[in-house]
Amino acid sequence: MDIIKLNPGGANCYLIKGSEGYLLIDTGMKGAAVKIRRQIRAYDIKPDQINHILITHDHYDHTGGLEELKEMTEAQVIIHADELKDNSKNKNQSNWLFRVLVKVIGAITPEGKPEAKIQPDVMIEGDLDLHEWGYSARIIHTPGHSPGSVCVVTDDGQCIAGDTLFNMFPRSHYPIIVYDRKKLADSYRRLEKEDCTVYHPGHGESITKENFQKRILNKGKYMKD
Ligand SMILES: [Zn+2]
Ligand SMILES: [Zn+2]
Repeated sequence: MDIIKLNPGGANCYLIKGSEGYLLIDTGMKGAAVKIRRQIRAYDIKPDQINHILITHDHYDHTGGLEELKEMTEAQVIIHADELKDNSKNKNQSNWLFRVLVKVIGAITPEGKPEAKIQPDVMIEGDLDLHEWGYSARIIHTPGHSPGSVCVVTDDGQCIAGDTLFNMFPRSHYPIIVYDRKKLADSYRRLEKEDCTVYHPGHGESITKENFQKRILNKGKYMKD
């Protein structure tokens, strides 16, 4: 399956094609809608062909563009219920270096505030099979980075990971914010079972299966808990 990567600023956004139209995964920062409209034009895709928007988790770099994109596409918005229930998203069990980094980024980023509450059309409890909506993929619940973080796994073995995986720093694929280390480790074990060939992270370039195994499963401190 061809996965289209979009760069509207903030986090990576991805588009997957279904039988009826497209699923957009994440929405970048405020102002993303105009950029996404321009970027999808290059693929001959119109905004009203986007039928669904999945929010992998409620961080501003993934949800900032949601309101404008919802207006532009009239797509149905999907989010995991746990992401809206739990308010303690600022808890961070990451390592000290990342915790400092997150504080610095928060201080210098004016948009670093929570967006208006998301009003979803579809709330996921657990996983969600997307086949009945015409996509060859499933949404799986992978808490850890945040309570309601999800990944999309396609039938051909690709994983769109949100911030469950990062690719911003040398030899590390851990997110810089970790809401719950134990749950994150369990989610990595869950992803291991899915046995994907490639992982598309919320930030940075795609991650190979080998690097997922080497840098997360074999070596990871989270896995040893
Ligand atoms: Zn992010
Ligand atoms: Zn995040």
